[in-house]
Amino acid sequence: MNVSGDASLEPGALYVVATPIGNLGDLSPRAQAVLGAVSRIAAEDTRTTSALLAHFGIRTPPGGLVALHDHNETRIAEGLIRELADGATLAVVSDAGTPLISDPGYALVRAARAAGRAVYTVPGPCAAIAALSVSGLPTDRFVFAGFLPAKSGARRAAFELIKAEPRTAIYYESTHRIEDSLNDLVAVLGPERRVCLARELTKRFEQSITLPAAELCVWQREDPNRGRGEFVLIVEGAPEVANDGADPEAERVLRLLLAELPASRAARLAAEITGAAKKPLYQLALKIAGDGAGDRDDAESA
Ligand code: SAM
Repeated sequence: MNVSGDASLEPGALYVVATPIGNLGDLSPRAQAVLGAVSRIAAEDTRTTSALLAHFGIRTPPGGLVALHDHNETRIAEGLIRELADGATLAVVSDAGTPLISDPGYALVRAARAAGRAVYTVPGPCAAIAALSVSGLPTDRFVFAGFLPAKSGARRAAFELIKAEPRTAIYYESTHRIEDSLNDLVAVLGPERRVCLARELTKRFEQSITLPAAELCVWQREDPNRGRGEFVLIVEGAPEVANDGADPEAERVLRLLLAELPASRAARLAAEITGAAKKPLYQLALKIAGDGAGDRDDAESA
């Protein structure tokens, strides 16, 4: 594959092609060239992809579009891998953004790699990264956690998991749950944690705002339009505690365990899991607990 908008494709290769998340101007010249040159396109929804291709005047051979979604992916992938082995070229796209990121494509890429096929990226829009890049929240370390669960109990449990997580956390959320999700977030992470709500990115009513969680809830309720569209929710990481030189992996494990266990048991387990020394981990656990993360009775000594 060369670096221009021309596609000189490698026979037998799979191309993972990102498509716009709202603004059609974001389909790269190289993506257009690849989509116009491959023998087949595996698409999450063939109607959506047909409309995209038609907009750009991209023609596909008859039968060139094949549906690939969560329910048929493993089965369809087998046939597509056989076609690659015969020298075909294949692109995979989803309805919007980067395939595989909370979208179909994983089974196909995995199968292609297992079969020794080359897999190339044609990168482009991804709502998670687009939102992170405008959020004003730390971008040096982050976790992408996909869609928030639909039910409040499971959602609160998901937020519990990041109570002590120092990295920025990114979630996808659907229209009709955003208000409930923000309420659950405040209930678990408290009113002060800074959160970015990024909505309708690259579209006409694009909006992104970063506020302490409780203020964001108020802002969101002020205007019904702020509950419409597609959302990315970005949560600032938990404040760092001076860790007296503890190994970062040991600290991460300790913080996870502290969400469930008293300081002494969390420190002992974290030491066993990571091989780090127990005593400094216990001191660190007490510090973190002092900040409210492990506020339970801990009479036992390390
Ligand atoms: N693969 C896609 C990507 O790379 O971003 C994500 C697909 S996932 C099924 C769809 C979710 O992504 C939406 O529910 C929303 O949370 C987020 N999303 C997609 N487009 C968006 C946009 N324009 N603005 C904000 N969020 C968006």
